[in-house]
Amino acid sequence: MNREKVLVTGGMGFIGKFLERKILNETDYNITIVDNLSSSVLDEKIANDKRVQFIEEDFSEWALPDNEKYFQIYHLASPVGPVGVLKYKGKIGKIIIEQTYKVAEIAIKMGAKLIDISTSEVYGKNPDDENEGQREDINKVVPPNITVRLEYGVSKLLSEIMLKNLSIDFPLKYNCIRPFNIIGPSQNDELGFVMPRFLRQALSGEPITIYGDGKQKRTFTHVEDLVDGIFMVMESDITGEIFNIGNPRNVISIRELAEKIKEATNSYSEINLVNPKKLFGDEFAEAWNKIPNVDKLVKAVGWKPNWSIDDIISEAAILKQRYLIKT
Ligand code: UDP
Repeated sequence: MNREKVLVTGGMGFIGKFLERKILNETDYNITIVDNLSSSVLDEKIANDKRVQFIEEDFSEWALPDNEKYFQIYHLASPVGPVGVLKYKGKIGKIIIEQTYKVAEIAIKMGAKLIDISTSEVYGKNPDDENEGQREDINKVVPPNITVRLEYGVSKLLSEIMLKNLSIDFPLKYNCIRPFNIIGPSQNDELGFVMPRFLRQALSGEPITIYGDGKQKRTFTHVEDLVDGIFMVMESDITGEIFNIGNPRNVISIRELAEKIKEATNSYSEINLVNPKKLFGDEFAEAWNKIPNVDKLVKAVGWKPNWSIDDIISEAAILKQRYLIKT
């Protein structure tokens, strides 16, 4: 059967694996994944699926085969993680911009619809925002201090701008997604993300390391809810838009998160306040509160997140425990 084909760049990452499982379950599309496994682990079940072609290569190096035809492209490839990005400092901009341009060219050439995964980091860190309401104005961004985190956020913002401007002169169908703190089972704890770190610490009895005073707030969203939103946007007729994705019911402070994880794992770990710059060097930068307004997405496609923060923590705690026992 001649199924339609989807390209997923960075498709072996945390988000990509959930996305591909959904596409395999809910459609009859074939999938080509290009991923160099630089910050992810191969999922054999996905890679060996009859409908999947897995190419282990850096998307920057990958040569598009002749006569290849995709009708949808999810662009997930990117350096990620507050610690994960540090080793790419000074190069993050080049990587993100060149890869976005490359994927846009492919989309234009094939008339494929493109989803670009941007970031909530484009909103920056506004010192006046400490008691802010929701991040709602998609076009309002605040340039904070120069940091590696900023190189990442600004490159993602520039990617959004490039796509918008390219779509004026070329037949480019695209949408950008700004995810807010996506978590779920099997998230890599080496990239610095908070939930897998706290879980590992709690389950191994090490101190749980809260950075700063722990009052900073985040909006935690299960990766399946994110993937639902991305998929709904891709399958809709919408183009040229930017959407926040984050579950506004799951806003909590990092102190509360630490306490919930400690409780869910029956852990005896201490909860310590630490300075992250002591752990990762001066280049490590904090964001402040990240709270999305998702009215635009809800109105456009009827997105409805299903996972509460407590359910996310208990699922991830059980799976992480099993994983730690096995390894
Ligand atoms: N965080 C923390 N301890 C850790 C890891 C992270 O207190 O061991 C905090 C971090 O400073 C941030 C929040 O948890 O305020 C979310 O961190 P993450 O790195 O997951 O995402 P981001 O800061 O990019 O939103």
